[in-house]
Amino acid sequence: MKFSQIFEMINIGAVILDRELKVCYWNPWMEIHSGITAEKIIGSQLLDFFPNLNQKKFLRNCKSVLNFGNLSFFSQRLHQYFFPFKPITAFDINFEYMQQSCTMGPMREQENGGPGSIEHIYIIVQDVTELVAYEKKLIDMNMKDGLTGVFNRRHIDKCLKDEFSRHKRYSRPMSFVLFDIDFFKKINDTYGHQCGDFVLQALSSRIKAIIRNVDAIGRYGGEEFCCVLPETDMDAALLLAERFRLIIAGEKFKFEDLSIDVSISLGVSEIRDEIDSPETLLKKADEALYKAKETGRNKVVMMN
Ligand code: GH3
Ligand code: MG
Ligand code: MG
Repeated sequence: MKFSQIFEMINIGAVILDRELKVCYWNPWMEIHSGITAEKIIGSQLLDFFPNLNQKKFLRNCKSVLNFGNLSFFSQRLHQYFFPFKPITAFDINFEYMQQSCTMGPMREQENGGPGSIEHIYIIVQDVTELVAYEKKLIDMNMKDGLTGVFNRRHIDKCLKDEFSRHKRYSRPMSFVLFDIDFFKKINDTYGHQCGDFVLQALSSRIKAIIRNVDAIGRYGGEEFCCVLPETDMDAALLLAERFRLIIAGEKFKFEDLSIDVSISLGVSEIRDEIDSPETLLKKADEALYKAKETGRNKVVMMN
């Protein structure tokens, strides 16, 4: 029985190199994904075809396999890929290259009465693109709100906690903005729930477009949103909150042939010595937001 037939059929890349890193075996999977036939590559230096591998880590690992018989593993998490092959597309996630987990190990010559000398290295290549895409999707779903695509409450609570401990360690400023759509129930009642959903989405996009990468915007409840602002003191946060207010109230929301006025009320809080927990920071913003609602809506109020 010729077991090598397995490598002709298997859905995994298999390569064998000699001590000079010349290719001795290149299975059909490698042919398909690289576009390089076995006929063409066998006998050539692997590095001539894949210059991206010509780096310290790979060469060091080859040495360690050849000299000491070690196994080495190139994880997708660290390296993403080994051979730069075209990826399959999974969900709407586009990877530049096929995500791979690779293993390299020694192949010994068979000698009577003891382990033979290591004359070859094998490389096994596994396509894990789909797995990684699933994982990314799951992480995303766990962090984001399905309707608006901004962070969900769970993630915002985590951001608040992380930023709060960062502040405790380094005493950096940090602010928090909580905002709520004014008379949103009326929008739903007048134009329908679908239109209400559209407003939630469009409002999120408008805000997302003007915040920095480090700011985290989230949907905290039904029509209540918030923004965690690292490295931002109260003055800067108030300016930003006012920009939020204007970008919502300043331009009507267009849904089908409707033109809808939307406004938000905002409460702003800032980390100070007397604020002892992320919950207190949130409570302060909530009190300010309540005051904004009470005193006329479509305005920014800061905590006292
Ligand atoms: P206020 O100015 O005091 O905030 O008044 P309001 O009408 O905005 O507040 P209220 O809390 O009475 O109404 C919030 C409404 O938001 C009620 C709820 O049906 C609606 N809502 C919550 N989640 C969603 C959603 O995902 N989609 C839609 N379309 N509406 C939602
Ligand atoms: Mg509201
Ligand atoms: Mg509300």
